[in-house]
Amino acid sequence: MATTSFTKKSLAVETVEPAVTPPPATGNATFAKKPKLAGSKSKKREIPEGLWTKCPKCSTMVFDKELDENLKVCTRCQYHFPISARERIHSLVETCTFEEMDSTMASVDVLNFTGAASYTSKLEKYQQTTGLKDAVTTGIGKVGEHRIGLGVMDFSFVGGSMGSVVGEKFTRLIGQATAWALPLILISTSGGARMYEGMFSLMQMAKTCGALAYHAKARLPYISVLTDPTMAGVMASFATVGDLIVAEPGAMIGFAGPRVIKDTTQAELPPGFQTAEFLLDHGLIDAIISRKEMKGRLIDYLNYLTPAQKSAAVA
Ligand SMILES: [Zn+2]
Repeated sequence: MATTSFTKKSLAVETVEPAVTPPPATGNATFAKKPKLAGSKSKKREIPEGLWTKCPKCSTMVFDKELDENLKVCTRCQYHFPISARERIHSLVETCTFEEMDSTMASVDVLNFTGAASYTSKLEKYQQTTGLKDAVTTGIGKVGEHRIGLGVMDFSFVGGSMGSVVGEKFTRLIGQATAWALPLILISTSGGARMYEGMFSLMQMAKTCGALAYHAKARLPYISVLTDPTMAGVMASFATVGDLIVAEPGAMIGFAGPRVIKDTTQAELPPGFQTAEFLLDHGLIDAIISRKEMKGRLIDYLNYLTPAQKSAAVA
């Protein structure tokens, strides 16, 4: 055993440092070891790729399969990893009950926007990498016994930004829910309005809220679920007009980013500023619900808010 390790060391000396470090050659076997160890480390790193994910909060390496089974929540510190719209719908809706609406609707580059890359090429890139047409998936499905209108945003598509497609899909969903007298659950994650669509994206704020006003007038419940992060134009429109507004733990929620606010107000921001926990303490949101408890809690809320629908479903 000793001989094999010795030969390995001497090989490393020959191959790695022939002329780079000539002086410290006297009995420094540990120096010779170092480059070899570094090499074997990088090899080790290659192997678990795609099998383990490092938690950004507690730095624990979590087995991917375990993470998926735990709805992408860290098993050690309960950090909520980002989750795709598809995964979220799967975690909430009863099997085979979700009927997607407007699945082929896609954005058009109305402004002929050109920056570092054209908007059209950006859209194509995101459509290819995510398999989505835009940043929201909408449809009608069943959660427990309740038939609901469900809209779920996906941050991986242009930062979940709200352009004309996101606004239009939400508006059509809300309209359908109003026509069929269904409760609504909208799950947000967004960096805000989509700048590539200029004023067209800003108009979606008023449009979605207008549709929600008709839904509210019909005395139908709307539950808004805020996930990490929900910011700017989405936060300043449909996401904050829910009858109930709930959030996932640790979610960053706000309008402008903390740096902008700090620069504008020239004041120190309180600790935990713009987190779900801070906003719960200050009365903006009604509850913080972990991802694993979300479905059960939403059913409880729907039972409470739509007693007539529940008894009809049971009968
Ligand atoms: Zn963790």
